[in-house]
Amino acid sequence: MRLPPDTIDNMPELPDLAILADAFHAAISGRVVVAVEAPGPLTVRGTPRELDALVGQRLSSFYRRGKFLWLEFDRDRVAINAMLTGRLQLARDPGVKKPQKTLFMMRFGPRTQPPADAAGWTFGAEWMPSDDATPELRYRDATQMGKIYILPAGVERLVPGAGESEMGPDADDPALTIDTWRARIKRHPGELKNLLRNQEFVAGIGNAYSDEILHAARLQPSRKRGTLAAEEIDELYAAMRATLAQAVAVLRERVPPTFETEVRDFLAVHNRGGEDCPRCGMRITQTEAGGFTTSYCRHCQR
Ligand SMILES: [Zn+2]
Repeated sequence: MRLPPDTIDNMPELPDLAILADAFHAAISGRVVVAVEAPGPLTVRGTPRELDALVGQRLSSFYRRGKFLWLEFDRDRVAINAMLTGRLQLARDPGVKKPQKTLFMMRFGPRTQPPADAAGWTFGAEWMPSDDATPELRYRDATQMGKIYILPAGVERLVPGAGESEMGPDADDPALTIDTWRARIKRHPGELKNLLRNQEFVAGIGNAYSDEILHAARLQPSRKRGTLAAEEIDELYAAMRATLAQAVAVLRERVPPTFETEVRDFLAVHNRGGEDCPRCGMRITQTEAGGFTTSYCRHCQR
């Protein structure tokens, strides 16, 4: 299939998915599933019977791990890999107009209270469905490349990319300390952009945020890890944490209530080839090598 040129650059990454996980956990956890529909059967890995069996189960948790979203119910689990163009909509009630190409829908009943561990930034949000509402989670996907895995208790079903050995620590995981980072990065001698996008090394970063992190660290994307001085390895760690945290803070303000839209216009370099570098004022370089866009400043990244 031929993809629109900007598709890979719009792939959801850690900051986008962190907002979704926080918001959907706050909005729908604690509710019981009252209906499930899958008009796009290719999107769903699971049988109609397994889908039906979700009805009546209470959602206890909605969280992100790497580029995957996980829903934990009383008994079963669901994993969502949005891939390139999968997007989630939060409809306050079933009457809200469905987006085109809605491939999966889950409707929830009322609840007595929001989950106790809901993220603080969601408290009192205007978009939050009231506890007596019947909100819907809707999944749309223009390229239909994303997948939704139904994982009933006791059924072995592979979720490619989500295995223990396939995914390193999350890039924002507090357990990924600077010491762990220094130890893990030694095993990877190659180019920094590829390193950051390697989910086995660190999970959650893709094409857009790898460019942003490298700009913040003042390191070029094609620079080899093996050439970095010890302080540069530490700077890369600090830049990764700061860049992701700043993006999450921006997206909390910008994304809700339209969780199905992706906000990228605040990025410093990614997809800004030919524009002025916000740090040094020189022109940003952009390449399309390997089928994806790489943007960096050759004047202030070394
Ligand atoms: Zn610059």
